[in-house]
Amino acid sequence: KRLVILGGGESGVGTAILGKKKGYDVFVSDFGKIKNNYKEVLALNKLPWEEEQHTESLILNADLVMKSPGIPDKSPIVKQLVKKGIPIISEIEFASQFIEVDTIGITGSNGKTTTTMLTHHLIKQGGLNFGLAGNIGKSFAWQIAENKHEGYVLELSSFQLDGVVKYRPHIAVITNISPDHLDRYEYKYENYIAAKFRITMNQSEKDYLVYDADDEIISKWLESNKIKAKKVPFSLTKEVKGGIYLKDNSIISNITNEEFTMPTNELSLEGKHNVKNAMAATAVAQLMRIRKDTIRESLSNFQGVEHRLEKVLKIQNVQYINDSKATNTNATFFALDSMSAPTVWIVGGVDKGNDYDELMPLVREKVKAIVALGVDNEKIKKAFESVVDVLVETTSMAEAVKIAQKMAEKGDTVLLSPACASFDLFENYEDRGKQFKNAVQNL
Ligand code: ADP
Repeated sequence: KRLVILGGGESGVGTAILGKKKGYDVFVSDFGKIKNNYKEVLALNKLPWEEEQHTESLILNADLVMKSPGIPDKSPIVKQLVKKGIPIISEIEFASQFIEVDTIGITGSNGKTTTTMLTHHLIKQGGLNFGLAGNIGKSFAWQIAENKHEGYVLELSSFQLDGVVKYRPHIAVITNISPDHLDRYEYKYENYIAAKFRITMNQSEKDYLVYDADDEIISKWLESNKIKAKKVPFSLTKEVKGGIYLKDNSIISNITNEEFTMPTNELSLEGKHNVKNAMAATAVAQLMRIRKDTIRESLSNFQGVEHRLEKVLKIQNVQYINDSKATNTNATFFALDSMSAPTVWIVGGVDKGNDYDELMPLVREKVKAIVALGVDNEKIKKAFESVVDVLVETTSMAEAVKIAQKMAEKGDTVLLSPACASFDLFENYEDRGKQFKNAVQNL
């Protein structure tokens, strides 16, 4: 059977390797350029490919197509495939057909990477040899081709879930849902919500759905849709049955017969949102029967994830924090919420239709000055000019950090939490975060 792979990136190349191993006639086609390291891998595995074009005669004869998550449904080649009735699936769908071990699938609008890495850390510390994949590191398909894990923790974007048909995680996690990527969902929020819930559609009574019970969108959806998986809620605000919650500044779980408690000040990650992420990871670890002591110890020694509320340096008693991954207002909300000192806030970039109203009370309470870092700062100026005493604009990260240093006094925090995408001035959020860290180190 002919397997055509659209997109020669991490998930495409992984799928190609796995596909060949499973006997498919594989072809990789990328409309852009394929990175050199991937070309080498394709050559080494004798896999045919093309770049900067989609040759129809080599694609429209496919029996099955794996579409990389970055390619939108509205691209012409995808439309043609749909018209011909050729099935199009995601890497996760393709690869999961070839495993018998369990996977833990983690999705949500924010907190996916943090929760996935934390969950993986807990499970590894518990002695289980689980792989880490999805949107992180080496692709799932590639790892399965190499076949060395007894299970997987997967970070799943809505795009990965769009291409799922039969994939069934033993434990699914939905961290939260807020509007994102609506351009890929015909600007319909309900389509994006439905994409997220595809994570549970193939689950059975033996499986679990761990979710944020404080999230109105999730709760509403669960009220009007039946699911088969056992529900495991977590909450910061209420004592949920058969779930995990916060009481007197401790995390309490009654998921298993043995009660689990842990004071939140022993968590290595700070901020309310990270209490939620820790709850989600703990729920999974308990369902995987990891010992309480191991969970507690692992939650307190987890190192955190780069570009997510990452402490960079303290200079003259000013703490510099890199939260470059905050590309929407919801993520920035939790960053500001977790600030305990007066904050000089570096914000801006490409606006994705932001509504800054929800940030106003926090900005009033915590932010002493704003450095607006973007090509177009009009919206930020308009929103916050009257709320903070000082607002300075710049288009250079080095300058932004220097200005912030001038405005910060002993005991203050300088926070990069842009609430916007990065591609007006940077390659991506990693580049933005790295430039921030370099600029801080050069102070
Ligand atoms: P994702 O992989 O879903 O983008 P990350 O873990 O990379 O999530 O975090 C993205 C941003 O959101 C970071 O700025 C982080 O500080 C913030 N964040 C992390 N967890 C949560 C959460 N549970 N709710 C809201 N924001 C969060």
